[in-house]
Amino acid sequence: MLLWKGGRNSSITMSLRQGILVTQRAVGISPSSSTWRALPLASSVSSFQGYGKWMTGIGAGVCFRRRRRRNWIGICGGETARVLGLSRALTLATEKQETIGERSKKGKDADSQTELRLYNTMTRQKEIFRPLIPGKVSMYVCGVTSYDFSHIGHARVYVAFDVLFRYLKILGYEVTYVRNFTDIDDKIINRAKETGEDPISLSARFCDEFHVDMEALRCLPPTKEPKVTGHIKQIIEMIQKIIDNGHAYTMEGGDVYFSVESFPSYGRFSGRSQEENRAGERVAVDSRKRNAADFALWKSAKPGEISWPSPWGPGRPGWHIECSAMSAEHLGHSFDIHGGGMDLIFPHHENEIAQSCAACAESNVNYWVHNGFVTIDAEKMSKSLGNFFTIREVLDQFSPLALRWFLIGTQYRSPVNYSKRQLEVASDRIYYLYQTLADSVEFLNDTSSESQPASKEVQDCVKAMKSTFFTAMSDDLLTPVAVAAFSEPLKLMNDLLHTKKGRKDKSRVASLRLLKDEVQALLHVLGLSMSSYEEVLNDIKRLALQRAGLTAEDLMVQVEERAAARAAKDWERSDTIRKNLAALGINLMDGGDGTQWRPAAVVEEESMLVK
Ligand SMILES: [Zn+2]
Repeated sequence: MLLWKGGRNSSITMSLRQGILVTQRAVGISPSSSTWRALPLASSVSSFQGYGKWMTGIGAGVCFRRRRRRNWIGICGGETARVLGLSRALTLATEKQETIGERSKKGKDADSQTELRLYNTMTRQKEIFRPLIPGKVSMYVCGVTSYDFSHIGHARVYVAFDVLFRYLKILGYEVTYVRNFTDIDDKIINRAKETGEDPISLSARFCDEFHVDMEALRCLPPTKEPKVTGHIKQIIEMIQKIIDNGHAYTMEGGDVYFSVESFPSYGRFSGRSQEENRAGERVAVDSRKRNAADFALWKSAKPGEISWPSPWGPGRPGWHIECSAMSAEHLGHSFDIHGGGMDLIFPHHENEIAQSCAACAESNVNYWVHNGFVTIDAEKMSKSLGNFFTIREVLDQFSPLALRWFLIGTQYRSPVNYSKRQLEVASDRIYYLYQTLADSVEFLNDTSSESQPASKEVQDCVKAMKSTFFTAMSDDLLTPVAVAAFSEPLKLMNDLLHTKKGRKDKSRVASLRLLKDEVQALLHVLGLSMSSYEEVLNDIKRLALQRAGLTAEDLMVQVEERAAARAAKDWERSDTIRKNLAALGINLMDGGDGTQWRPAAVVEEESMLVK
């Protein structure tokens, strides 16, 4: 049925059919030339789902998206439209339409190159990031359950969101970044039983250990780090609201469960249907639940277990409700970005959406951002497969900056494959980067003045680096492209520092200074700038020797033996020593002032190992 049709000069026409989403090419194209698209709700709902309002100022079920520069406008049928009221939805749609129209008149946005685009799991597409309040960003990222050391999957999540946090600040936003701790949970209680420790002190201990890892990985502290045990009151209040709104029920014994059937859009975020949820009924273990997919909001305490008083008896919160309550407490019911690992999309974030909207219909997250998995040697990381690495275990072998560089080397949404080889390569790369900067700093400190400005070649190179870097970062944090932008500037720096031609360059000093300053500025965006590079370089060397199973003295003995072989013109022996060290990740470099060494990725070929 046609609900509303614009006048002759209007460019919008809308239609709504129950269960059918109808979209129309809306901007700059007259209705007569545009085509209607009727999409079955099931197939299009991933882009339009969201019980609440998921774009700034837009009502439930009314949404806009841009695809290949066309603005599509749509109204979602069914419950969302009913909840909002169609007239309100249409008003909002018209308002938004006018805004889009004005923008399109300006032609291509001048700042479209640097406008940040983020992939939104809710709409399954990249969207231009626009915060609810201009200039301010509110971001919530699900934190760890603190019962053990964090693994490299955690390193990936928090490095990814640290990069986003830093980049938003670079773009001039005032960012409120909230990352929680789940400091009470079944896993914590069970671990505490095993160790005979108090669960709260056990979790506090691992919160501290987590901070040690985050600091090593150069992740900035979030604005707020709420803990569940500090928010029991808010959690109880939210559960009560959900019960009052008819979306949860209490059970004998004091448990409280969320009723997924009371919430028709449950499953839309993750793309799961109610049928799929019902299929799980066969394996349901708790017959007290009304639906197999119902999940706990409040868990009654077993005898002797830690608990908090509640209207339903002593107990503790379920996992999912924590994030709904803590995000609402610190960022309000509507905020900009909610992040976490892809494994949290279902059930954790699906449940969070259901809870938040069931407690408060105004609840809304504008951008759902999820990072990809970490595999180990191309297999899923798991304790049972024995390929499970804690951050601490990796840092016993590699510099934390090598780990950070490795993680940034893949775009945050792609799966990343961890292997020792990959870490060696990352370590090698960061060594080259820092060595180049350290050499530049040393050279510039020893040089008093510059007679000529930076060369045109260097100025152009810096311009290209910055343009590539910011375009890539704004394109859904395309960090592999951003870090690749350093290649040419680093090559120029080494040429200026070490080649005959570079030494003669009249612009040498100014060119090096410009390159060093600009590379450092961009490294700062990625959390990789250093006040002193020597410490990191020494640390990388120390770890390389340790991986090679050599002490500094062992290495000196070999270097001296090789020098003696060279003096005696025993080239074969000299070469053998060099190749054997290369196979251990140690590179020898002969120069004017003797033989130096640097860590390098291990040369893998068996044939390189010469007896
Ligand atoms: Zn969470």
